[in-house]
This record gives sequence, C-alpha cells and structure tokens, in this order.
Amino acid sequence: MAKNIIVIGGGPAGLEASARLDALGYTVFLVERDNHLGGHLALWDRLFPSGDPAEPVLRGLVSKTGSTKILLESEVQTLNRLGKSFRISLSSGVSVIADAVLLTTGFDLFDASKKEEYGYGIYDHVVTNADIESYFRTGKDPRIDNPERIGIVHCVGSRDEKAGCRNCSKVCCATAVKQACELKAKFPKAKVYCFYMDLRMFGRGYEDLYLKAQKEYGVRFIRGRVSEVSEKIDKTLQVKAEDTLSSTPLKVSLDLLVLMAGMRPSKSGSKVAKMIRLDTGEDGYLSVADGFTGMQATTIPGLFVAGAATGPKTLPETLAEARAASALIHDYLKG
Ligand code: SF4
Repeated sequence: MAKNIIVIGGGPAGLEASARLDALGYTVFLVERDNHLGGHLALWDRLFPSGDPAEPVLRGLVSKTGSTKILLESEVQTLNRLGKSFRISLSSGVSVIADAVLLTTGFDLFDASKKEEYGYGIYDHVVTNADIESYFRTGKDPRIDNPERIGIVHCVGSRDEKAGCRNCSKVCCATAVKQACELKAKFPKAKVYCFYMDLRMFGRGYEDLYLKAQKEYGVRFIRGRVSEVSEKIDKTLQVKAEDTLSSTPLKVSLDLLVLMAGMRPSKSGSKVAKMIRLDTGEDGYLSVADGFTGMQATTIPGLFVAGAATGPKTLPETLAEARAASALIHDYLKG
C-alpha cells in the first residue's frame, strides 16, 4: 500500500520535496496556509546573484509536483502521533493520517516597523526589500517616485539584540547589492548608498556582483549603522549615520530609504512544532537531530525538516535540503 507523507509548507522546500517524494511513489499531501504556492519566492522579482527572474523558477518547481495533493488555505489545527503514524487536522476540515511528516515552514520577514528609528510605516518614502521586489514585479508603489538619492540599510532586525535577533540573516547583503544595482538601472541619475556593518558576500558569484555594483553602477558602500532617520517638510529623509572606517559622522538627504528586513523564525512553523513537541532553539528556529550529520532529521522518529525552518538559507541551499530530506524519508519508510 502506498504510504502517505504530509509536507507542511508550500514554499520552495515543500515543493521540491513533494516532487521528489511523489516521483518515488508516495502519496504526498502538501499543506499550505496561503492561497498560493511558493512562499516568499512568489513575492520576489529577481534572484541573486544572477538577476534571473524568480517566476520561472517557481513555475518549474510547481510543475514537477506531479500527483501531489495540494491543500491550499489550510492551517494546521492539530498534529499528533498515532502509534508510529501522524494524524493532522486542517482548518478546511480535512484530516490525514501519514507515515512521515516533513516541516518546510520557512521563515517570516522581520517586521521593519518594530525599528521605529527607521520610520517604516511612519515616513512616506521608507520601504523594505520585500516592497522593492513587489515594486519591480508590479511597477507600482506610490512611495517610490523617481528618487534621485537612495539609501539602503543592511541588517534591519538581524544581528541586533534589541530587535531580539542575534543571528545574521545570510541573504540580505546579497539582496541589498542586487537591489542597489536594479534601482540604479531603473533610476540611472540616482545616487545609491548602502549602509552596512559587514558585507557577507559568501557565495559563488556574490563577490562579482559586489564589484559590479561599485564599478558598473557606482553604488557607494558606507560602513556604518544608520542611527536616526527623520522626515523634512518636503518629505525628503534626513539620515544620520557614522562612517566607521573614517570615524566621521554623516548626514545624508534621501528621497528613498530601503530597509533590508531579515529572516525571523516562522510563527506558524513554531506553532506546528509545539503541537508535536518539537523543540526550537534559543534563536526560535526548529531544532534538528544533529547540526552536522542530521540536519534534516529531528529527535522525533518520522518527523523531518528542510529549508529556512531551521535557520536562514539561500534558495539553492533550501532546495538541496529538500532533496536530502526526501532521500532520508525514503530510507526511513523503507525501514
Ligand atoms: S546578510 Fe548582511 S545584511 Fe543580512 S544580516 Fe547578515 S550582515 Fe546583515
């Protein structure tokens, strides 16, 4: 008899794992609380470092899911053990018994309005990285009005004890550099400044993107944290920062400020973890069986994890984890 697997979370990790498990002959139920698949990938316009569009990547992932039973707009109400199996009940009234569960609940973006000093939701021309992606997808955002001076603030809600997050979100330096180039391409007359603490351009091709931003697009990188943002009567923004390389205080007038909101543990993922008594770490991300050799397993037999549910990940890392989790689930179910 075909075995049932529940995958919770319809972002890239959930889609990739569902495709692999479906191809292995399992009956896969993919549970997604939103009314669409793709998670944050569905909201992104282009991907770093290549600048390729996100939409065909997502389309490709969805097209491979085969006979996966996709359950949209389905919140997990209960998840518990039933002997060696799991029983899940959903807000739609559906309930499923499964032999294994994979949590691919992803991440939440930090709510930038919590950093009041940056003025998101208060001043007219302060936006986030997610808003920029939405602007590039739709061409619409009244806050972005042919800006001539643009500032990008790194580490918003990351590496910040006061914001309740010590860790680095890993992907936002590369996102900032990518968006700096895109904004410069869209508004060629604009001056674009990146305010950073460190630049974490660790991946293949990322350093080239950084060089391109400086040489081709003339993006200026200023090492220093923005301490204060205020709005003048004419709606331009006054940004105070310190250039920590030259120990010089800076005051810059801007027409647009972009906040690189970081990754936070998914609230809905934490809720599901609690139901099944899966621990979370001090950082709020889901705990794994072993941080070196058991990244996709948990301490609960039959319960697996993949993607940003266990910490910040790039898209290729997320997809690789989804494939690893599928292989591990296959081994587990074969006994
Ligand atoms: S990736 Fe860069 S912007 Fe993001 S938290 Fe880390 S250092 Fe800050």
